Amino acid sequence: MMEIAIIAHDGKKVDMVQFLNKNNELLQNVKIKLIATGTTGSKAEKAGFKVKKMLSGPMGGDAQIAARVAEGKTKLVLFFKDPLASHAHEVDINMLLRVCDVHNVPIATNEATAQLVLNAILSKL
Ligand code: PGA
Repeated sequence: MMEIAIIAHDGKKVDMVQFLNKNNELLQNVKIKLIATGTTGSKAEKAGFKVKKMLSGPMGGDAQIAARVAEGKTKLVLFFKDPLASHAHEVDINMLLRVCDVHNVPIATNEATAQLVLNAILSKL
């Protein structure tokens, strides 16, 4: 079972749902478990995906995902960051990026990278 975390800032949530739908077949694979920050997870659920929801990002959801990366549970993070907005929880976001680097866990911070990484995973499942 491969645990994948999805996170999308508010300005990128529509893009994230489109991305999930586009990759529906792969992401609904029984070998993949999706987790998400709270609001992103709710959007994904509405689109029909089974997702384990953490707290909302600003309430600590990014930090929870970082902890799962550190514990070796989450193996990939798909993080649609909004580079044009500022975020109250910027320190948590930077912490997540750092923890992924510390543990050599792939983290895609835009859709193009996320697609490339998912395609690579598809060939390994
Ligand atoms: P959200 O969190 O999915 O709860 O909106 C995302 C974030 O801003 O980190």
